[in-house]
Amino acid sequence: MMNRIIGHHTGGAYFPNATDLVAYHRLIDGDGQPHDGKHPISANAPGRALTAGTYAAHCLNLNSGSIGVSICAMANADWGKPASWTHPVKPAQVDAFVQEMARLCRIYGIPVTRRTVLSHAEVEITLGVKQKNKWDFDYPLRGTGPRDPIAIGDELRREVGIALLGQPVPPPSPSARPILRQGATGPDVREVQAALGVVADGIFGPRTRAALIDFQSRRQLLPDGICGAMTWAAISTMAKGA
Ligand SMILES: [Zn+2]
Repeated sequence: MMNRIIGHHTGGAYFPNATDLVAYHRLIDGDGQPHDGKHPISANAPGRALTAGTYAAHCLNLNSGSIGVSICAMANADWGKPASWTHPVKPAQVDAFVQEMARLCRIYGIPVTRRTVLSHAEVEITLGVKQKNKWDFDYPLRGTGPRDPIAIGDELRREVGIALLGQPVPPPSPSARPILRQGATGPDVREVQAALGVVADGIFGPRTRAALIDFQSRRQLLPDGICGAMTWAAISTMAKGA
C-alpha cells in the first residue's frame, strides 16, 4: 500500500542517469518512455525502515508511503528563465507522465486529490512538510500560464482523472509491440520468453504466463500476465541492460 504520488523533474538531461535512477521509482525519458528506478516502489512502503541507500529519496522527510515519478528534463535550468532552458519538459513527456500517474493510482488505489497526487512544489504548501526551494512544478507543464504550483497541480490532477476514467487510448503506432497473452504464438512471444528465462518455443502457455506475472510483480507493473506497452517497455529496458 502506498499513500501518495509525488511528481518531479530530474533537473537532468532527457535520459535518466545513475543518480536519477536512484532517486525516483519511475522516470519518463525525453521520448515519453517510462523507466524503472533502482529502488522498487515497495522500498518506500509505509512502516518500512528507510535506511539510506535502500529506498528512493525523492522528497525531504516525506518518502515513506510516497511514490516518486520524475520527468527527465530541466538540466541546468535557471529558475524563472524559460528562454534559456536547454531541456524543457516536452509534451510527450507530460502525456506519458499523466498516464503513469493514472496507472499508479489504479494499481495502488490512490485517490486523485491535492494531498495524494501532487507535485514536489505542492508538498510544502499542501502537506506542510518543509522542502528546499523545490520548483518542480511552478511552471506550466503545457503552454503558458501562471506559476502557481496548486493551479498547475490541479490541471495535472484533472488530466490524471480523465486518464483514470478510461480516456480513449490513441491507436498504437506501427512500431508498437503487439499485446501478448496466453495463447499467443510467434517470434514476439519467443522474445518475451528469452527475456523471462523460460523455454523460448514461441508459444505463450501457462509457464510463460506465470513467469510474466512474477516479472511484473518484481517490476511494480500490473501483474496481469499480459504483455502490454508497459511490460514491453520494462522488457526492452532489461534487454538493453539498462
Ligand atoms: Zn523534486
